[in-house]
Amino acid sequence: MNEPIIRFEGVVKRFGELTVLDHLDFTVDPGEKVTIIGPSGSGKSTVLRVLMTLERINEGVVYVDGEPLWHEQGAKGLEPASEAHLRKMRQKMGMVFQHFNLFPHMTVLRNLTEAPRYVLGLSPREARQRAEELLELVGLSDKAEAFPSQLSGGQQQRVAIARALAMRPKIMLFDEPTSALDPELVGEVLRVIRSLAEEHELTMLLVTHEMDFARRISDRVCFFDQGRILEQGPPEEIFSSPKEQRTREFLHAVL
Ligand code: ADP
Ligand code: MG
Repeated sequence: MNEPIIRFEGVVKRFGELTVLDHLDFTVDPGEKVTIIGPSGSGKSTVLRVLMTLERINEGVVYVDGEPLWHEQGAKGLEPASEAHLRKMRQKMGMVFQHFNLFPHMTVLRNLTEAPRYVLGLSPREARQRAEELLELVGLSDKAEAFPSQLSGGQQQRVAIARALAMRPKIMLFDEPTSALDPELVGEVLRVIRSLAEEHELTMLLVTHEMDFARRISDRVCFFDQGRILEQGPPEEIFSSPKEQRTREFLHAVL
């Protein structure tokens, strides 16, 4: 068996008095497609934000790809992570948020080539070639020279997915990627995510309220409640015969 690519061990995250992650244990295997569902405020976004090192944790350890996120091996054992270590760890992951966060003053093409050029050191030609392949993947080859404001929300979100993929992450994190979209634009974004889910190597962690979608693409569904995983399993099990009362209530409310 492979080592998990993501491992939360006894992770506690508090905001003041509020405990948002409550001794969370959570693992994801390489290549696994995991969906997180659960009520608002249950800590779903916090899990992704901790992985992206956007939030520090109060207790516990998070490992990504075999290394602790917030610490690194120094001369005298584990030491607090340097900025270089955090950057290296962040680069293993690409994140897509509810809001698209594209650079508004750059064309679609430059949105996709900027980080590969200046962070990964790709040549302009290599970066452009990679960007063009990704635009084709998300069905937006004809929009390379457009600015984000000239695109629909669904198109912007597809660019955001392509931009995250341009850094060749091992892990893709999606935080309610379709929640801010008009209903008629949801399908085009889900289709792109679905095509990624067919890639064997890519690890995916997705927070969504699209239950039908979660059922179709996930290897495993985790129901979060009050900063912990209350219940998890294959989608058919969680959606058809949840064991916990709170899972049943949640599904009843959203389905
Ligand atoms: P979810 O994504 O499941 O809706 P979150 O992980 O975003 O939940 O948030 C969990 C809880 O933490 C919520 O009660 C939220 O209000 C709180 N929270 C999130 N970020 C902050 C913050 N920066 N400061 C204070 N409270 C926060
Ligand atoms: Mg959230």
